[in-house]
Amino acid sequence: MFRVTKTFYWEAAHLLPLVPRDHKCGQLHGHSFRAEITLESDILRADGFIRDLAELAPVAKFIRENWDDSLLTISTEEMAVKLFDKAREACPETKRVRVYEGRTIWAEFEAHL
Ligand SMILES: [Zn+2]
Repeated sequence: MFRVTKTFYWEAAHLLPLVPRDHKCGQLHGHSFRAEITLESDILRADGFIRDLAELAPVAKFIRENWDDSLLTISTEEMAVKLFDKAREACPETKRVRVYEGRTIWAEFEAHL
């Protein structure tokens, strides 16, 4: 089994409107976010790649245009599944997306197949 991972970074304000008011995520705060997108395959293409990771460019564009230096109102888990869907559109070998919210918390979405 081959795996390859590409990492993306963005900075954003964060506020979760559905948590109780005294919950720390209910107050405006910020994070340095990081996402790791992992592709997986049993075989390599003739060029030696699972897939050219340049094909994840639409994911970078989505993050830059929608999330970087923005106010995010979704959970880290929801970010993971959103990036998973974007990555899968570009690269069907996408297996897992892990989103780090700062240095101590991450959430992950993983395909069953
Ligand atoms: Zn937060």
